[in-house]
Amino acid sequence: MNTTTEELVQGISEWLRCESPSSDPAALMRMAEVMRDHALRLGLRAELTQVQARADTPLLPLVHIHNRAAGDTRAGLLILGHLDTVHPIGTLAHNPVRVEGDRFYGPGGYDMKAGIYLALTALGALAQPGATTLPVDLLIVPDEEVGSHASRATTEAFARKARYCLVCEPARANGGRCVTARKGSGNTVISVQGVASHAGLAHEQGRSAVREMAHQILALEAMTDYARGVTVSVGTIEGGTTSNTVPAFCKCLVDFRFTDLVSANAVADKMRQLKPVGPDVTLDIDVEINRPPMVRDDRVAQLLHRAQQSAAAVGLVLEEAPPTGGASDANFTSAVGTPSIDGLGADGDGAHTWSEHVLVSTLLTRTRLWHHLLTHLD
Ligand SMILES: [Zn+2]
Repeated sequence: MNTTTEELVQGISEWLRCESPSSDPAALMRMAEVMRDHALRLGLRAELTQVQARADTPLLPLVHIHNRAAGDTRAGLLILGHLDTVHPIGTLAHNPVRVEGDRFYGPGGYDMKAGIYLALTALGALAQPGATTLPVDLLIVPDEEVGSHASRATTEAFARKARYCLVCEPARANGGRCVTARKGSGNTVISVQGVASHAGLAHEQGRSAVREMAHQILALEAMTDYARGVTVSVGTIEGGTTSNTVPAFCKCLVDFRFTDLVSANAVADKMRQLKPVGPDVTLDIDVEINRPPMVRDDRVAQLLHRAQQSAAAVGLVLEEAPPTGGASDANFTSAVGTPSIDGLGADGDGAHTWSEHVLVSTLLTRTRLWHHLLTHLD
C-alpha cells in the first residue's frame, strides 16, 4: 500500500470541505458523488443509488463500493460508513479544515469521513478482484446521524449476506479503542393538549399543558435504571405561546437507551401507559425502538482477536472499549447476526462538536490496519 500521511490529510481535507449535513439531500448527493468518483479513480467498482424512508420523505444517496469480480456473490466482508454529519452548511466558515500540531480539525472528520477515507484507501490498493480472500463491500449511508430510517433496510440486507462487518465509526478517544458492544436506542415524542385561557382574567378556566408535562417529565426520567442499563432523557421541550396565556400545548422529545430488548420493551410499555395527572388534558405518546443493542457474543470475541492480531502486525495495540451508550449502524448489523466490530475509523476526539479532530500521527498506521484486515480475514 503506497500512501503517505500528507496524501491522507490532503484527501480527507477535500472531503471535509464538502459539507454534508443529514438534513440536506443535495449536499449529501455532492458528498456521495465525491466518494464514488474517488473509488472509481482507485480502480474500484462503485455505484450510487438512492434510498427513502417513506414515500413522502426525500430520496437520499447511498454509495456501494466493492472489489467483487462480476458474478461473485460469495458472502464477504462488509465495511460500513456514513457520509452525513451533524454539522450544518456554513460550519466551515467558523471551524475551517486545518492542522494544528497533531490535531486535524474539520466538521465531520472524526465522525466519520476520515475513517471512511482510511478504509477506502486500503481497499483501493486491493481493487483487483482476488486481491482479498473475501470480496469486500463498502457501504456508505446518508442518514446515520438521524436514525438511518432511509438506509436501514439496505444495511441489514448487506449485513445478512456478509461474513463479518467492520464499521468506520470513530475509535474511542485516548487510545483508539474499538467498540464491540453498544446500547440500543429509542425515541419518544410526547405531547400534551390542555386548555388555553387568559392567565390573568380566567386563570381557573385554563388547563396548563406545561404543568402537566412537568409531571410527565419526572415520570419519564424516573424510568432510568442504571443497574439494568436503562436511561431515559427528556432532551427538548417546547410549549406555550405567551407568558400571559395558560398554555394549551407542550411537546417533548425523549431519548432512551437499553442493553437488551426485554428492558427496551418494558420501558416502551411504561411510556405508552403514562396517564394524565391533571384534569381535562390529553396525552399523545409515540414510542419508537430505533436501534437494537449491539451484543458482544463469542463470534465477536473471535473477530476481535483476529483484529487485534492485525493491529499487532502493523504496530498498533487495539483495545476494546467498555460497552458504550452510543448507538450506530453496527447495532443493525449485529442484530441480524453478523459479527461486527465498530470504532475502527479514525483516532481523535470531539465528535459532534467544533473541537472534533483526528490525530494526524495515527492516520497511516490505521490505514495499514485496514489493509491488513482486508487481506487477512477469511
Ligand atoms: Zn458517526
